Amino acid sequence: MAWVAPDPRPNLVGRSPLEIAELLAPHVDRPFRATQVSRWVIDRDATSFAEMSNLSKELRSDLERRFRITDPEILETSSSDDGSVKWLFGLEDGVTVEGVAMPEDGKLTMCLSSQAGCAVGCVFCVTGALGGGRNLRPDEIVGQYRVMLRRLAAPVDRVNIVFMGMGEPLLNTDHLGEALETLYERVSPKRITVSTSGILPGIRWLAGVERRPKLAVSLNAPDQERRERLMPIARRYPLDELMTELRRFPLERGRRITFEYVLIRGVNDAVADAEAVARLIRGIPAKVNVIPLNEDATHFPDLRRPDDSTVNRFAVSLRDAGLTVTVRWSKGLDVDAACGQLKGRHQRRGSQST
Ligand code: SAH
Ligand code: SF4
Repeated sequence: MAWVAPDPRPNLVGRSPLEIAELLAPHVDRPFRATQVSRWVIDRDATSFAEMSNLSKELRSDLERRFRITDPEILETSSSDDGSVKWLFGLEDGVTVEGVAMPEDGKLTMCLSSQAGCAVGCVFCVTGALGGGRNLRPDEIVGQYRVMLRRLAAPVDRVNIVFMGMGEPLLNTDHLGEALETLYERVSPKRITVSTSGILPGIRWLAGVERRPKLAVSLNAPDQERRERLMPIARRYPLDELMTELRRFPLERGRRITFEYVLIRGVNDAVADAEAVARLIRGIPAKVNVIPLNEDATHFPDLRRPDDSTVNRFAVSLRDAGLTVTVRWSKGLDVDAACGQLKGRHQRRGSQST
């Protein structure tokens, strides 16, 4: 692809109404013009100034010269038999990220990426195996939502957002925070979940913000020793400190913390492990999402998914201990589209061709 000079015009995507108002203030005759523009961009999902039929032609072309409304480019889409769709997005600097949209009980769950890779390096994760990537900007985060919404013609009130795509959202708190503020204009905070590997400063940041999304924590092991082996970041942010932080995390009425637990055969799938998980999180309003490992023969050939009866036994043990448990029987496996299994296919293909 030919090199294209970066577009210097500020992108209006991913900005809150307040930010749009500030940016536009010097260029509009009355403040409500900026409100009109932000309604178009945020509420009506406009992709160009030309659509803004309640603005004069002159203003539209003036704004067009100064600003832009740009979403990530779709490089590839793949649909799976269960209805989930995986998207490969191209960003302006040539970086690619993936997102997945999954229909579920009349709702559409969008799994968004927050970084173009992940430096946390969990041993069971394709994104982690590929290494770190840059933080996505607010427009690149919100843009994934905009593209999916448009392409799937999804009713806005049916959309849930989970930050379980590529990257560690709580290592990108500045941009995540801005993106959330914009997303809240359309999607209630209680329909948005941020999933973290346990980045303590990020959890503290989230505890302090005014409007909070739901929190999911990738636990993956009931003790420090095994957690550290699976998730090297646990050395820096030990399990006991994580649990202390979670015990004081402010929860809105009716909310619970979701603990995600990737089940790996012979590693963390024993009934005793389920019992240890239940003890560990006792007292925290919680639910547990058990995720049978998505295998990957290239990046972690030695790690296997337990058989279904082991998965069920694990879930039942948690339930017997009084916990609410869901099992994520993977969506979109046939297109490699499951959350937490992102970026594998494209990268492999890319590396073969070089
Ligand atoms: N970095 C954040 C969010 C992205 S990962 C986090 O780790 O929480 C989203 C989820 O996918 C995490 O719960 C992670 O444990 C899970 N995951 C990663 N690789 C997986 C795999 N191979 N199979 C099943 N789940 C996986
Ligand atoms: Fe990063 Fe999450 Fe993958 Fe771990 S599981 S490497 S934190 S994306």
